[in-house]
Amino acid sequence: MSEQAGTGSLGDDRSRPVGEVTLVGGGPGSDDLLTVAGARALERADVVLFDRLAPHGSLDTLAPRATLVNVGKTPGHHPVSQKEIEALIVSHALAGANVVRLKGGDPYVFGRGSEEVLACHAAGVAVTVIPGVTSAIAVPAAAGIPLTHRGMTRLFTVVSGHAPLTDSELEHLAGLGGTIVVLMGIGTLPSITQGLVRFGADPQLPVAIIERGFSPTQTTTVGTLASIVFDAAAAQVSSPAVLVIGEVVRLAYDGDAEASVLLARAEALADLA
Ligand code: SAH
Repeated sequence: MSEQAGTGSLGDDRSRPVGEVTLVGGGPGSDDLLTVAGARALERADVVLFDRLAPHGSLDTLAPRATLVNVGKTPGHHPVSQKEIEALIVSHALAGANVVRLKGGDPYVFGRGSEEVLACHAAGVAVTVIPGVTSAIAVPAAAGIPLTHRGMTRLFTVVSGHAPLTDSELEHLAGLGGTIVVLMGIGTLPSITQGLVRFGADPQLPVAIIERGFSPTQTTTVGTLASIVFDAAAAQVSSPAVLVIGEVVRLAYDGDAEASVLLARAEALADLA
């Protein structure tokens, strides 16, 4: 562990050099979708601070030397606040540890990764970011839904449904057309779908909700802008889930088919042609 330029600015008499921080995008939940660079960073880590949505089932193997710290919100655990997470990252690095902050999906997509990077800069700790496969694109794909399709849509918009959208945002989204992907959108599903219709979106536009992408319990619920609130209630849909609104939903063979099933179907279609 060598001292990095810009990290030795504290001027005290610590004996260990300051460590460094790597923010790793862990992908949408499956170890297979962690990048090679992410896996290498984990291999070298002394401390790993991980989230609930990050792939953490195999951390013992992926980060064999590291102390593993769960900072995610799991039922029955007091969630660690964002400020506390930033303080933990910085304090471990200042104590000389090679810190990996493992986040779900991509660190810069609604992941507060940029706040953690700024906290490192503020403390004079060297930080690098390894991008990850974002759930915004990968989870629809896991359900067989492409976000773009030539001739059908040439744009997609990814929005956070954490807080209700404003009327102005809904109006622009409805007017823009194209595919709309909503993360953290289960709580605001009624206001988003009704709002889009209020501003001119077709009530018959297809909508898919994909829960727990890449897990054995991945489930897709399909409806329309007009019906999806009832469909979601009937299916008892819950977070984490990705919402896809747009004609591309029609392109899914049927949600949750495994790659091998899709391949077999494609081959069968080719035989018929
Ligand atoms: N940085 C992450 C997103 C963080 S916001 C990324 O790039 O993927 C957290 C939201 O992401 C969840 O509420 C959900 O909407 C979505 N999400 C993440 N992983 C998911 C998964 N495996 N299945 C379904 N939704 C997921």
